[in-house]
Amino acid sequence: MKINIHTIPDEGLELQEIKDRRWLPTVLAGEADVDFSLEEVKISCKIRKVDKTFFLHGTVETTIHIPCSRCLETATLPVNVPFRYTLVPAATESREEIELTEEDLEYSFYEGETVDCDPLIYEQIVLQIPMKALCREDCRGLCPRCGANLNLSSCSCPDRDVDERLAVLKKLKQK
Ligand SMILES: [Zn+2]
Ligand SMILES: [Zn+2]
Repeated sequence: MKINIHTIPDEGLELQEIKDRRWLPTVLAGEADVDFSLEEVKISCKIRKVDKTFFLHGTVETTIHIPCSRCLETATLPVNVPFRYTLVPAATESREEIELTEEDLEYSFYEGETVDCDPLIYEQIVLQIPMKALCREDCRGLCPRCGANLNLSSCSCPDRDVDERLAVLKKLKQK
């Protein structure tokens, strides 16, 4: 979603866009390899202009598909988040000013005549992915011995839940 800055009227510009599954590869442009995919991405935002600074705010809604960190099956993560950015020209003389207010707002830069919202929206989506994505809160994962998916079936490995140290204690007690 590239916006020509000259098309933004004083009262601001409202935009609604729906990106299909082909959007993610175009944003990545072969520069990054990701282990997730996205369903349709719905973007609703408004951009306002004050002098050379642009204020962008809106919401992004999509569904992320990513391997569960415990069982490796696909985890489905719904996303619906608000975002807010302040965009300043890449060659700005006012970096000091920016640092003062940086805590409150997310800053980004634009170059030339266009504001490209795609990297910002991508960033917002990536921020929603937890360090350890789970297919469900109580995912039982894979058996560390035989690799069975314990959500689907239990396996016959002995002492599956017993920690190595506990196993040592158990043996000592038996003596
Ligand atoms: Zn899982
Ligand atoms: Zn097992």
